[in-house]
Amino acid sequence: MTRQNYDVAVIGGGLHGLSTAMHLGRSGKKVLILERHWSGRHASGATAAGVRTLNRDRGELDLSLQAMEMWHDMPGLVGDDCGFHANGQIWVAEDAAALTRVQAHVQALERDGYRHEELIGPEELRRWLPALSPHCLGASIAKRDGAADPHRTLRAFRTSALAAGATLVEQCGVEAIERQGGDWTLRTSRGNWTVPFVVNAAGAWSGRIAAMVGDVIPLATKSSMMMVSERINPFIKPVVSIVGRSLSFKQADQGTLVIGGGLQGVPDLDKETSTARMRVLAAGARAATDLFPSVRDLRIVRVWAGLEAKTSDMLPIVDASPNAPGVFHAFGFSGHGFQLVPIVGAAVADLIVQGKTSLPISHLSARRLMEPSPVKDNTP
Ligand SMILES: Cc1cc2nc3c(=O)[nH]c(=O)nc-3n(C[C@H](O)[C@H](O)[C@H](O)COP(=O)(O)OP(=O)(O)OC[C@H]3O[C@@H](n4cnc5c(N)ncnc54)[C@H](O)[C@@H]3O)c2cc1C
Repeated sequence: MTRQNYDVAVIGGGLHGLSTAMHLGRSGKKVLILERHWSGRHASGATAAGVRTLNRDRGELDLSLQAMEMWHDMPGLVGDDCGFHANGQIWVAEDAAALTRVQAHVQALERDGYRHEELIGPEELRRWLPALSPHCLGASIAKRDGAADPHRTLRAFRTSALAAGATLVEQCGVEAIERQGGDWTLRTSRGNWTVPFVVNAAGAWSGRIAAMVGDVIPLATKSSMMMVSERINPFIKPVVSIVGRSLSFKQADQGTLVIGGGLQGVPDLDKETSTARMRVLAAGARAATDLFPSVRDLRIVRVWAGLEAKTSDMLPIVDASPNAPGVFHAFGFSGHGFQLVPIVGAAVADLIVQGKTSLPISHLSARRLMEPSPVKDNTP
C-alpha cells in the first residue's frame, strides 16, 4: 500500500532532519520523518556539541554567525536552552609561527568587517585558562561561542518537530526512491509513501540517497572519535583548540573532560559502525596534557566514534537537487554541523515553502561538488 497524505518526507531523524521538520511544520507543511534506526542514532547522538563560529570557513561563516544568534535564543526557538553555555571558544598558539597564523587570521577577518574573533595575549589568555601551560603565547577567542548538551538538544528538537505536527517513523529505512508523475515514491522497510517533496538529511549515507534520485556527489566518510575522563572539580569553562594540532577540549557540566577535535577512527558505512584507533586517541590525549599538564594522571573512562559525510571542501550541501525536482539536500557537514542545526532547517524549509531563501547558503550548492573542474587553457 502506498500512503500519500504528507507534503514532505524527511529522510534521517538526526538533528538536521528534526530541525528541518520543525521549521516545515511551523510553516504549515505536513511532514513525515523516516529514520532507519532511532532519532539521534548516528552523528547527532555522538557529537561533542561544540557551538563554534571560531575559525569557520568563510563559505559558511555568515550562516554560522546567524545560527549563533539563534543559539543565544534557543528557549525562544525550541523551549529549552539545550544546555548551551556561551563560555567562549579559544584557538591557542603554542609557538611564534602559530601566533603569526592566528594574528593573520583575525586581521583578515577584521579587514572584512567581522568582529566575532579577538586576539588575546598571554596574560589575558591565562585569565581565561588559569591551568594553561606557560609555553602558550596567545590566542584568538570567540566570546559568544560555547558548547551545548547534545542529548538535551536532540530532545528539544525532536519534541518541537512533533509539536509542529511532524510524524516520526523509526526503524524505517528508505531503500529506493522513484518518480511517480510529479511526486516521489519512497520504498521503505515499513511500506511506501508518495510525496511531492523529499529532504535528504541522511548524514553519512546521504550520498546513497542522492544517487537514488540521480545526483552523484562524491563524499568521503568521517569517523570522528571522542574520549571522556573521570569527573574532576571545575577547572575550565571555554572550549579550547590548538593551532596545527587535532584537539577540542572542554569540561562538561558534570565535571568530565571531553576531548576530541578531528581525531579519526576507521569508518564502515555498510556495517554502520567505526573502529576506534587507540594510537590516534593517545595523540589527542598528548595534545590535551601538553596544554593542561595538571590533567596528565586522569583516567579516560569512555571512547566512541560517530559517522558523518565529508565533502572535498569541508563545507556542507544545503540546496535543491540539480537533477530531481522536489528533492532537497542537507548533508556533508564534515564534522561541524551541530552549530548549524537551527539555521539549516530554516533554510531548507524556505527553499521548499517559498522556493528561495534569504539565508546565506550560496556557497553550499550541490553543483559545486558535482561539476568537473574547468579544464585550464594553457595556450599562451
Ligand atoms: C564525534 C563527533 C563530534 C562532533 N562534534 C561537533 C562539534 O563539536 N560541533 C559541531 O558543530 N559539530 C560536531 N559534529 C558534527 C555534528 O554532530 C553533525 O554535523 C550533525 O550531528 C549531523 O546531523 P545530521 O542530522 O546531518 O546526521 P545524523 O545525526 O547522522 O542523522 C542522519 C540520520 O539518517 C539516518 N539514515 C541514514 N540512511 C537512512 C535511510 N536510508 N533511511 C532512513 N534513515 C536513514 C541515520 O540512521 C541517521 O540517524 C561532531 C560529529 C561527531 C560524529
